[in-house]
Amino acid sequence: MKSRTTPRLNLLFASSEAQPLIKTGGLADVAGSLPLALSQLGHDVRLVLPAYPQAVNRAIPLTTAATLELPGYDGSVRILEGRLKDSVPLYLIDAPGLLDRPGNPYTDASGSDWRDNAQRFALFCHAIVVIALNRAGLSWRPDLVHCNDWQTGLVPALLASEDSRPASVFTIHNLAYQGVFNRTTFDQLELPNALWSHQGLEFHDNFSFIKGGLAFADWITTVSPTYAREILASALGYGLEGLLQHRSERLEGVLNGIDYSVWDPASDPAIPQHYDAATFSLKKINKLHLQREVGLPENEHALLFGHIGRLVAQKGVDLILQILPGLLRLADTQLIILGSGDPGLERFLRQECGKHPDKIATVIGYDEPLAHRIEAGCDLFLMPSRFEPCGLNQLYSLRYGTVPIVHRTGGLADTVINATPRNLLNGSATGFVFDRPDVESLWRTIDSAIDFHKRPEIWWQKLAINGMQQDYSWDRSAQHYVEIYQKAIDHPAPNPLAKRTPR
Ligand code: ADP
Repeated sequence: MKSRTTPRLNLLFASSEAQPLIKTGGLADVAGSLPLALSQLGHDVRLVLPAYPQAVNRAIPLTTAATLELPGYDGSVRILEGRLKDSVPLYLIDAPGLLDRPGNPYTDASGSDWRDNAQRFALFCHAIVVIALNRAGLSWRPDLVHCNDWQTGLVPALLASEDSRPASVFTIHNLAYQGVFNRTTFDQLELPNALWSHQGLEFHDNFSFIKGGLAFADWITTVSPTYAREILASALGYGLEGLLQHRSERLEGVLNGIDYSVWDPASDPAIPQHYDAATFSLKKINKLHLQREVGLPENEHALLFGHIGRLVAQKGVDLILQILPGLLRLADTQLIILGSGDPGLERFLRQECGKHPDKIATVIGYDEPLAHRIEAGCDLFLMPSRFEPCGLNQLYSLRYGTVPIVHRTGGLADTVINATPRNLLNGSATGFVFDRPDVESLWRTIDSAIDFHKRPEIWWQKLAINGMQQDYSWDRSAQHYVEIYQKAIDHPAPNPLAKRTPR
């Protein structure tokens, strides 16, 4: 139900991926759930995405809602209209030859970025702008466009020069990905010349998509309060900290929610045994199934650690690899890793872990149902990310009673409370947290988790159940976004390129 003080808003939610249509990471989880939560609050929210073949197949039935001519593209762009999860109106931007590539939305089969990504996502941005200005023939005008990550970064920049424009919010899901290209690419895209400036899209003589969002959006958000502070300093600001500091009065952290209709051990269709906080002891049946599925010895007493994620340096998987010798020395511990990404890390994992099939199982690939079974079957979840804007797997782990071990950074710091005997009893302890992303700290924390597990069983149950009882549903975060939308609408940011009248 929507609060009486908030008017019904027309919201265009723009993203380059959304679950269940296409997913490479957390952005898809957010774009697949937040629009529904906003629509449940009573707002008219519509999602716009590129028409990747996989998304089209999963979104059928679709109709052609409009046909457009857009700058930088020979031919007609179609807006295909359907529904996300039979609910939220969905627009897929169909540009044959450019946006209709199969597989990963950003890379070719060898894992290299598509060479024309700037052209692809500039076209996507132009289409979003045309819809946002009600020039696409859809007879619908949003009050606000919510852009997400660099692929939509040009939208606030292109809107800024329009006299009658909707407000814009830009959400940073990961500042490490910025969409930086060279000057020649900027020229080829025939963007307004005025945008090539230090206050605009220029970034150290290069052309930055994400600066379009950071410099021009009426409001900026990122996906946790801690990460909102971290990106103001050079270590995680990637050279954009000055701009973010300059805009810090319009920058807020809103913690991601999770979709409990998809991630709930009481109803999850991907797991063999349902359970909840009251039937926590049934969880071990999932462990036995998981061990069998991945080829580990079936042993309900083995302490099973899990890790799921993109195999990139950010996620600290190299730290996990360095603690393997220690883990291998311990009796009754097992580890399962599910991931894909860096080919070198994939190879190394296959080689190293293959040597210890009784202790370690590695699954290289992207497997959503298996991710659910790992959350349900493991005792502990390792998340030693060097930085983590929000992180979703620790939230899934909490819900599944799989105790997270996390580095105190970004959203991990905001969502996991380190266990001590005292805070266990008052219900706040939910996991194990370490301060430095190095092998010693990770190992020390694993060691304390193992010690904790050796205490009376009721301690562990209490810790896991504390986690299961946390509420990270989307509802609260969606309400927070609505407050931000209202501020963005009421207080539009001045165009940073507007000429100031001399006094
Ligand atoms: P990021 O967006 O940086 O990748 P998040 O923790 O925010 O990290 O979100 C990652 C999402 O992708 C989670 O839903 C996670 O379960 C999923 N995921 C990542 N790698 C895999 C994989 N190999 N198989 C299945 N799901 C995966």
